[in-house]
Amino acid sequence: MKAPFPFIPWNTSALWREVNAGFAHLLRAKKTALADTRQLADQLHASMASLFPLLNDLCAITCTTCSDICCQRAYVWIDFKDLLFLHMTDIPVPGAQLLSARGEHCRYCGQHGCRLERIQRPFVCTLYLCPAQTLRLREDPTVMHATTEALQRIKRTRQAMETAFIRALMA
Ligand code: SF4
Ligand code: SF4
Repeated sequence: MKAPFPFIPWNTSALWREVNAGFAHLLRAKKTALADTRQLADQLHASMASLFPLLNDLCAITCTTCSDICCQRAYVWIDFKDLLFLHMTDIPVPGAQLLSARGEHCRYCGQHGCRLERIQRPFVCTLYLCPAQTLRLREDPTVMHATTEALQRIKRTRQAMETAFIRALMA
C-alpha cells in the first residue's frame, strides 16, 4: 500500500499568519528561557552560511544550463525547525508557505532562480544536491566529504535547537 501524501503545514495565509504570530509571542514570553535555543540557532546560521559559497559556485556551473529545474517540481515546504530557526535568528520569514497544495510550483521559483535568500529557504533546499551537482562534487573527494559532514552537522544542530526549544517551553 502506498503511503499517503504528507500534509503541507500552514498552507493557507491564515494558518501562516497564525503560526508566525505564535512564534513571535513565545519568543517574547520565553526570551530568557530560550537562550540555549538562540545560541544553537546562531551556530546553525554560521554553519549554513559557511556552505553557501560552495553552493553558489555549484549552482553557477550547473543551474544556469539546466533544462529540468528541480524547483519546478519540488514537493517541499518550510517545516517547524525552519520556522524556529528564522524566528530565533531574526531572519525575515517568507510571506507564505512554499506551496499550498501538491502539484503547485514553489511560489518562490522565479525566472532567474529562487527569489528567497539562501538563508531564508527551508533546509531541504540546501540539503538537496542534484545528480549534476553531486557529480561535480565527487571530482574532489575532500570537498565532497567535508560537504557531507557539514550537512550532517547542520542536521544534528537543527535537532538540538528544536529539543532546546521544547525544553524551554516545558521549563
Ligand atoms: S540544482 Fe540541479 S536540478 Fe536543480 S536547477 Fe540546479 S542543476 Fe537543475
Ligand atoms: S524555496 Fe527556492 S530553492 Fe526551495 S524549492 Fe522554492 S524556489 Fe526552489
